[in-house]
Amino acid sequence: MYLISSQEMLKKAQRECYAVPAFNIHNLETIQVVVDTAKEMNSPVILAATPGTYSYAGTKYLINICKTAAETHHFPFALHLDHHENISDIKTKIEAGIRSIMIDSSHCPFEKNIAIVKEMVDFSHIYNVSVEAELGRLGGQEDDLIVDEKESAFTDPDAAKEYVERTRIDSLAVAIGSAHGLYKGEPKLDFIRLEKIRNKVDIPLVLHGASGIPESMVRKAISLGICKVNVATELKIAFSDALKQDFIEHPDANDPRHYMQPAKLAMKKIVEEKIRICGSAGKL
Ligand SMILES: [Zn+2]
Repeated sequence: MYLISSQEMLKKAQRECYAVPAFNIHNLETIQVVVDTAKEMNSPVILAATPGTYSYAGTKYLINICKTAAETHHFPFALHLDHHENISDIKTKIEAGIRSIMIDSSHCPFEKNIAIVKEMVDFSHIYNVSVEAELGRLGGQEDDLIVDEKESAFTDPDAAKEYVERTRIDSLAVAIGSAHGLYKGEPKLDFIRLEKIRNKVDIPLVLHGASGIPESMVRKAISLGICKVNVATELKIAFSDALKQDFIEHPDANDPRHYMQPAKLAMKKIVEEKIRICGSAGKL
């Protein structure tokens, strides 16, 4: 089995004090960049895709490209459902071969959030699928999910303890000041809150919206219990900027096999840097 759950890799990261990077992928080229680079650096890795990406690329296409990549490299990794909300959609994707999910009910009131996530955990654990859920609410935009700054809310440490106990999730996404998309000013993370959550919750913690957070802050978050670091925006920007630049320099370019190369290289540099910051190189 090459597409694996995130459970074991995150527990190992927690024991050994590093984080597993989760990179959002969109197509064949971005999958190749992440898998090739992680394999070269012997880093455990999670490939994440939002509902929009599964719709764009097709669930079976994504699963089969990832399976082929994993088998070719003899390199098991997790293909993850990022910010999925629809239970029947998640069940269909698990039945198609996904083994790592995030059910995002963070927009629901506490009791409803628990009820939805618990139902998803009961189903997922039958298939040995790892489940991540979010308490509190991150601001910013991810896919079609847009959360206004006013609607964002930090994770309450006591509520987190109750949430984890009642839902039996495998990892918890915390809202401690990070946001999806680009930061307007310097990002601020609430490390005191993170430490309080860590003291009350013993499962791996997840940092969303890590694009644009300085290295020192990400490292500090990892030292305080973050075991999974999500990166999406920085990869998209590097890939797209290099592609645009290549077309400026070669306006007649018309061969995707050529003009995709600089884009892949630019994205690879970000993947390498994030693996280094997460401390996950050599941890396979
Ligand atoms: Zn996220």
